[in-house]
Amino acid sequence: LGRHQNDDRPAFFDYNGVRFGQDTLNIFAGLCAVDTIENVEIMMKALQAHNLVCTRMGAYKPRTSPYAFQGHGKACLPYVFDLAGKYDIKVIAMEITHESHIEQIREALFHTGSPTGVMLQIGTRNIQNFELMKMAGRQQDFPVLVKRGSGITLDESLNAAEYLASEGNRKVVFGLRGMRTNLGDPHRNLVDFAHVPVVKRLTRMPVCIDPSHAVGTRVDSADGLSDIMHVTAQGIIAGANMVLADFHPTPSKALVDGPQSMLIRELPHFLEDIHIARQAY
Ligand code: PEP
Repeated sequence: LGRHQNDDRPAFFDYNGVRFGQDTLNIFAGLCAVDTIENVEIMMKALQAHNLVCTRMGAYKPRTSPYAFQGHGKACLPYVFDLAGKYDIKVIAMEITHESHIEQIREALFHTGSPTGVMLQIGTRNIQNFELMKMAGRQQDFPVLVKRGSGITLDESLNAAEYLASEGNRKVVFGLRGMRTNLGDPHRNLVDFAHVPVVKRLTRMPVCIDPSHAVGTRVDSADGLSDIMHVTAQGIIAGANMVLADFHPTPSKALVDGPQSMLIRELPHFLEDIHIARQAY
């Protein structure tokens, strides 16, 4: 995935009709965790109304507490994939935390006959789970979004991503989601979107930003805009190629990360902001 001398392979790949590259931009707004079939449908309907063909939908959730909602797992896959087909969603980013999830996803896609595709997501906690990385690297049929490790160097995260390529999967997107520091921070994590051009320079991976997990709250700033919108614009101006963002029809009732989920009615504003920032890039 790194850039080497005399290696001019293109910095893009196509998946299920969508191009992912270092000069494209794809928006993945959606539910951090799937909770009800109704909320999945409200979300996907809103995406279609705004001509969006990608989304994020969490079925397997890595949680800090074993007593917190762990996601519906494979039980929700049939309705998520059916609804994705109904609303013309072409790619769903879905985190996996165990290799068995890959087969569950493949089986549910097959049984529902849904035309949608899945981008496997490996989260910040699992980036150095090398056996999981190798397993995802052996899946030639799924692209992978791998998120930067929060407590390791950028170089270590890029090496971890290389595990995917070493097993044959070069359809890899690298995600920035903020860094944990011990210095205190008004946000959930220290926003690291200034590293978008660094990763693009060092590798040929498209770079994703996750403003929701970076900021951690949709509390409005002085001008009435959420800080999530401000940092998204910063990431886009820095050259981000993909945006992962949490939305929910009723954030106060979300089972995971409600405080950072934006309201569906904020989606048009969010997209407009991205559009303006993209022109400035
Ligand atoms: C997520 O995107 O739902 C998630 C858990 O992200 P991260 O791995 O960045 O914490």
